[in-house]
Formats: sequence, C-alpha cells, structure tokens
Amino acid sequence: PATLGVMGGGQLGRMFVHAAQRLGYFTAVLDPDPHSPAGLVSHHHVQTDYSDASGLAQLAALSDAVTTEFENVPAGALQTLAGQRPVAPGAAAVAIAQNRIEEKSHFVACAHVSGVSCAPYAVIETPAQLEAVPAELLPGILKTARMGYDGKGQVRVKNAAELAAAWGELKQVPCVLEKLMPLKAECSVIVARGWNGDIVGFAPQRNVHVDGILAVTHAYESNMPAALALRAQAATKSIANHIGYVGVLCVEFFVIDDGSEHGGLIVNEMAPRPHNSGHHTMDACDVSQFDLQVHAMAGLPLPAPRQHSPAIMLNLLGDVWFDPQGQMRTPDWQAVLALPGAHLHLYGKLHARPGRKMGHLNITGADLAGVKATARKAADILGLPGLDGI
Ligand code: ATP
Ligand code: MG
Ligand code: MG
Repeated sequence: PATLGVMGGGQLGRMFVHAAQRLGYFTAVLDPDPHSPAGLVSHHHVQTDYSDASGLAQLAALSDAVTTEFENVPAGALQTLAGQRPVAPGAAAVAIAQNRIEEKSHFVACAHVSGVSCAPYAVIETPAQLEAVPAELLPGILKTARMGYDGKGQVRVKNAAELAAAWGELKQVPCVLEKLMPLKAECSVIVARGWNGDIVGFAPQRNVHVDGILAVTHAYESNMPAALALRAQAATKSIANHIGYVGVLCVEFFVIDDGSEHGGLIVNEMAPRPHNSGHHTMDACDVSQFDLQVHAMAGLPLPAPRQHSPAIMLNLLGDVWFDPQGQMRTPDWQAVLALPGAHLHLYGKLHARPGRKMGHLNITGADLAGVKATARKAADILGLPGLDGI
C-alpha cells in the first residue's frame, strides 16, 4: 500500500495517522521523540530532528506524499522533501503561517477579496520602529513574529513605556504590535483545498480560551450570527486560494464590537494544518478534518463535509490529572464514559503537565440542549473551565 508521511509526531499527527490507516495507507512519522503520540501508532517512525538530512531522506524514501502537523517545522525541510515527493501544505505557505509579519501581509494582500482585515498593527524589528509606533495602536499586544503559540510569546502593553519594556523582555526579536481589539467572541474556520483547487470547508466554530489556551469549542449553528458565519467561511476560502494552498487550513477570527448589531469580523492568524478547534469534526461530522487532510495530500476527491450533530469540544489539559493540592490523580473516566454522547480522545502521552494538551472530549447529541447539559456534567466531573453561562 501507499505510505503517507507526516512531519511531527504530536497529537495532530496521531489523529492524521489514524485517519490515513482507516483508508488502508501505511504511515511514516518523523519526530525525534521515541514516545511521540503519532510515532507510537505509525508503521514507520523516523526518529531524527526535523532538519536532519538523513531523516528527511528516509522520510522521502518511505512516503508517497508528505504533510506536516507541526507549525514550526523548518520550511527548508519541507522544501527539501518537495524535491522528491508531493508535499502539502507547501514550504511557502507554511513559512507565511510561521511568521506573523508575513502572515499579516498576506491577510492585507487578500483583504480586497476576503473582505476581512486584521487588527491594526505595526512591525517592530528595530529600535527606530519601536520609537515610531503610532499612539493609536495602544493599548495593544506585542507578539513575537515567530514561534508563539497558546498565548506564549506575547505581552499586553498599555503605553509606550510598557511597550519598550516588553520588547526588551522578548529579547528584541522581530515582533508585531497589534491594537487590542474589543472582542465579543472568537471563532475559526477550517477548509481543505486540493491540488486541483477544489475547496471544501466546515462551518465556523466559536472558541473559548482560558489562560491563552483553547478550552471549549462550540460547534453548532446558533454559535454565531449566520451573516458573520458566511463571511468567515468565504474569507477563509479566499485566504487559502490566494496562495494556492494545498491541505487543511484553519483561520482564526475575532468578532469585535464595532457598534453594529452582530459585530465586525477581523482575521487573527492561520494554522497550516488541522486545528484543535476542529476536533469536534471527528464525532460530529461525516468527514473529519483529518480525513480531509488525508484526501487533500493524497489527491483524493474532497467531499463537502456534513455536520450531523451539534457538538461541544472540551479540551483536556494536563491540569485534569492534578487535584487542587497538586497531587497526581486519574480523572474519573468511568463517570465521563457513562455519559451518552461523550466521545473521549486521549493522545497516549506518557506524562501529564499543567497546560499540556493530553486529549479532548467531544460531546454530541440529538439536540443542542442535550449537548449543553452533557457538556456541563462532563465539565463538573473533570473540573473543566470555560463553560460559564452555557
Ligand atoms: P494559538 O495557540 O491559537 O496559535 P497564539 O499564541 O498564536 O495562539 P493569538 O491567537 O495571536 O496567539 O492570541 C491568543 C489569544 O489572545 C487570542 O485567541 C485572543 O483571545 C487574544 N488576542 C490576541 N490578539 C488580540 C488582539 N489584537 N485584541 C484582543 N485580543 C487578542
Ligand atoms: Mg498561533
Ligand atoms: Mg491563536
């Protein structure tokens, strides 16, 4: 059988491997960690660094096509692989998503088609650019251009003095300062685009973050106004089309309070891969984001996914494995698994740490009221945050 390769062995790689295997593919994972969640379940596990030439050669030799699950995979490594095998998404697209400066330029460049702009921002790479920051960008959020995730690598600043201190704290690396926007809500849209330009996508989901990390995803029709949902879907497709993207792409949006009835839409950032906010698709849709990743990279048809059930996704961070006194414990899976419509996914990670993504719980049901009630019960059993007011 054909073999599909993936750069990165984290949970996204593991769920990709599962989807690939269901279609009969063999898989090859490149990850230096011998216990990586995807490496543990893959036919082949190349245990080298992401830029190791012999590892890349091995992955290319094993694989008929290669994808990535890891946002910070060196773009050069994808380029090397692309010399030998089809690689999706490509190095250029991944490089854009890895650098907030290029990412924002891309959003600006397609704003006339996407109809959505990003928050006002300034690039800060030099002391002179720091000095020149316009006052109307404050209060704002200073974000490192590269390597930030889960709210790491960013500092909220109220004034110019705090901004200067924060840039020093972030080691004066290239950054962007974004104006702090009045958020009403956050949402994201996942699309999959094929080599032939065909593109399909899911409806937007509404996301709730706690301490900078995704805690809860609401995936059902009434999660946001229909007009905004349509705009976000169209914008995501144009953002993918504009760079000839191939693979699964997630675009994060802010719904901001702009005085209008439903609020305005602002694009935040994009991830060149399946996304934590799309995990409900595994149980609530007839085709998941990982199925689409397999289809897109392998050149299979891209069927439009259909969501057959309202869903709420609860992220399971390592915190769940600790009691309030900080002692390790086993979460009460018995009670969770007894709930109809609760679908538990654990990533097989050997060690729980607070903030570490260990798994997720998808709640589905025949109707939204039932889904919310079950989510509430599960959150109570596990002590999960982020469900206030539902
Ligand atoms: P991810 O883990 O999603 O990649 P990240 O670390 O790259 O996250 P962002 O998505 O840029 O970070 O920001 C994290 C969160 O901070 C956002 O989800 C949002 O809640 C808040 N935030 C970021 N930028 C702004 C802004 N300009 N105005 C208001 N809130 C913001
Ligand atoms: Mg990010
Ligand atoms: Mg984000």
